[in-house]
Amino acid sequence: MEHINILIIGAGVAGLTCAGLLEKNGIRTTIIEKETSEAFNSSGYMLGLLPLGGRVLTELNLKDEYFQQSVEMQKYEIHRENGELNKAYSLDFINEKYGSYRGVERKTLIELLLRKVNKSEIKYGTTARSFQQQNNLITVSFSDNTQKTFDLVIAADGLHSQTREQLWNNDEYSFYDTQWGGWVAWLENKSMNTYKEYWGAASFIGFYPVKDKIGIFLGGPDELVQKHGLQDFVQEVQNNIKPEYALLHESLDALKKLTEPYYWEFHDCKTKSWKKGNVLLLGDAACGFLPTAGVGASMAMDAASALVDELSRTDKEHLEYGLGLFIKREKERVENAQENSRDLGKMMFVKSHLIAGIRDYAIRFYSLKQLTKSISKTIEGK
Ligand SMILES: Cc1cc2nc3c(=O)[nH]c(=O)nc-3n(C[C@H](O)[C@H](O)[C@H](O)COP(=O)(O)OP(=O)(O)OC[C@H]3O[C@@H](n4cnc5c(N)ncnc54)[C@H](O)[C@@H]3O)c2cc1C
Repeated sequence: MEHINILIIGAGVAGLTCAGLLEKNGIRTTIIEKETSEAFNSSGYMLGLLPLGGRVLTELNLKDEYFQQSVEMQKYEIHRENGELNKAYSLDFINEKYGSYRGVERKTLIELLLRKVNKSEIKYGTTARSFQQQNNLITVSFSDNTQKTFDLVIAADGLHSQTREQLWNNDEYSFYDTQWGGWVAWLENKSMNTYKEYWGAASFIGFYPVKDKIGIFLGGPDELVQKHGLQDFVQEVQNNIKPEYALLHESLDALKKLTEPYYWEFHDCKTKSWKKGNVLLLGDAACGFLPTAGVGASMAMDAASALVDELSRTDKEHLEYGLGLFIKREKERVENAQENSRDLGKMMFVKSHLIAGIRDYAIRFYSLKQLTKSISKTIEGK
């Protein structure tokens, strides 16, 4: 691969995947990460990684470690809010046909990806203050008062990308807000190979296993949870659950015990153009995801891999062309998966009991492929 001088902004899923693959191709990058090294990688949530993302770990020679530190998911269950099972899907067809569908902690995934990056490349506690484009080069001034010139800047700084805010106009990207959100807690020392979700009216509970523990998510409409606060909201949800569903009660008790609950707001973001001059948006910065379909991290890794593939065939003089090919290859795929996540959100996040009842009845006639139609197509490369 021809040496291209690259800055990566953000040491998250997309940024580290991209840096690791570039390193494999002999390209050292500079990476800046806004968190300090002490605070870095502390956001504790769980990821369901489709083979779409997991395959990239094979490319990075991380498959064995990844398999050791994650669990294969075999079933997906949708329950009613009182705990009763409404519909169960087998995930065998994914595991057999496309590759292992696994549950992994985000922290673990980041630690794995870090193994393929030269740690000295990462400047923690650093952000980009300004960008100056000149001919085919871009000079970046950093928050530590240094500056450096690059051929390409890859902005992988997440859903609330500061780079996008600095360089893109307000009308060039838009947020989509579900007006729902929620909290994450953990049940330690538990194993499970089933995703369990409890779709209520004005409430949602999800069980997402990783190795040796289960991530629990409790969500609801912003206005309702803000009015009640975590404790009262949990109690209200718990009142509707039959006593025999012990795991559900245990998980809600764990949520009540959270000392510093972090409220995740469920919105995403779409950007009209992924590139401006020599700056390219990647991952959630380009096209952000609601966690509803559990596909954002997989798409970020898939896009990072496609980008490095295109860069590996591009020389400095034809960077513009190479980046154009990458965008043609990925943008529609990623946006289709985003749309599917939004559609699922509309089914999951329902406030009225009447509509929830109709949904619960209708869901029994849906296949998993129908529920995730665009994502299934994306996995198939269509
Ligand atoms: C609760 C929750 C559950 C989820 N569940 C799933 C799931 O099951 N499956 C799935 O596939 N996806 C899931 N997602 C989505 C997934 O986490 C994201 O799509 C994925 O992390 C996007 O990767 P990214 O690298 O673009 O962004 P991130 O992983 O968010 O990384 C961005 C990085 O940039 C850094 N940064 C931010 N601003 C700056 C700046 N100005 N300068 C330098 N660095 C900066 C951040 O600190 C971070 O390290 C979930 C998300 C949430 C919130």
